[in-house]
Amino acid sequence: MNRICRTCKEEKALQENYYKSKKSPGGYHTKCKACCKAYHQEYHKQTYKPNPRKLKYPYLESSYSKEYARNNHLLIKYGITIEEYKKRLDD
Ligand SMILES: [Zn+2]
Repeated sequence: MNRICRTCKEEKALQENYYKSKKSPGGYHTKCKACCKAYHQEYHKQTYKPNPRKLKYPYLESSYSKEYARNNHLLIKYGITIEEYKKRLDD
């Protein structure tokens, strides 16, 4: 039995080229294995980008965007980060 993949539109043998899925019609995915893989790789790329925001300021989640905007502003205007800016103020 063959199925035409929804994504690449190729007709492929169902049992060999499609993952099983209880939710899908006929008990197999509508996407072939190759397309599933490609899809997950793409998804992985998008999801697992390091998030500097969370790494750098985990405790400042709510006020972060303000801080970030200021930081960006300083970076653009003076080429320094907010830490450096604060340090300069302290000196
Ligand atoms: Zn496909």
